[in-house]
Amino acid sequence: MPVTDQAFVTLATNDAYSQGALVIGKCLRRHGTSRQTVVMVTSHVSQGTRAALAEVFHQVKDVEVLDSSDWAHLNMMGRPELGITLTKLHCWALTEYIKCVFLDADMLVLCNVDELFDREELSAAPDPGWPDCFNSGMFIFRPSLQTHTRLLKWAREHGSFDGGDQGLLNSFFSGWSTEDISKHLPFIYNLSISTVYSYLPAFQQFGPKAKIIHFLGALKPWHCKYDHQKGEVYLGDGSLCHLHLGPFMKQWWVEYCRPAAPSFTQTDIWQDLE
Ligand code: UDP
Ligand code: MN
Repeated sequence: MPVTDQAFVTLATNDAYSQGALVIGKCLRRHGTSRQTVVMVTSHVSQGTRAALAEVFHQVKDVEVLDSSDWAHLNMMGRPELGITLTKLHCWALTEYIKCVFLDADMLVLCNVDELFDREELSAAPDPGWPDCFNSGMFIFRPSLQTHTRLLKWAREHGSFDGGDQGLLNSFFSGWSTEDISKHLPFIYNLSISTVYSYLPAFQQFGPKAKIIHFLGALKPWHCKYDHQKGEVYLGDGSLCHLHLGPFMKQWWVEYCRPAAPSFTQTDIWQDLE
């Protein structure tokens, strides 16, 4: 049965990241999630893109960009990139849900990951660059207006040590690295594909068990070109996408081109009619 008080949540502040969000919505559906799906969008997302998102997600939720004109941003002048990632904090205001899983728009969900809802706030996987920090591309949280307000206050008073949401969330949930091992998710739930070359034997050993791929870093799948006939993905300069990244980039493009599967609710309606 569909679970109406739990949701997967992603964010897109422009049409480019919306392409990533679309793939997430499609993958979640295709893998038969029983949870709701929500994409938070800001005013820069075009009407056409919103319509495409609305076909895949249960809810397209408008949120404000937190930028330098926002009250929460006064201490952060001169760090424009922080404004956009702070927008992610609005997920705590989705209080129509009891528990949620946030996914960055630059992720590829490879199978059903509904078991993530068994975890508690704040659960996340380690960051490959500094494993005592969690990577904020995917995390389990409980929407709460009180937490939302406290996070914005924290942003105003302390800023973020890396200029993005990850630094802020790691200092706010500073107990993550030591307090409760059940909040440390396996790396296969947030596998940063651009960093696996630093430990290739581990990737060869555990990579086939990956559940969520993260295209962390500047190169996103929607920056690449996909040749349907050859089944190859090319970088902006025309060169082939290299060894480890290639197959996942291709899989992202296959999902992007695939028509959306019926949602759980729609399937359920058909079953009821039979
Ligand atoms: N994001 C967005 N618009 C932007 C930048 C970021 O909507 O211009 C959102 C999007 O959901 C994205 C997340 O913020 O996945 C974090 O940014 P990104 O994934 O680029 O950071 P990385 O994972 O590469 O550190
Ligand atoms: Mn990301």
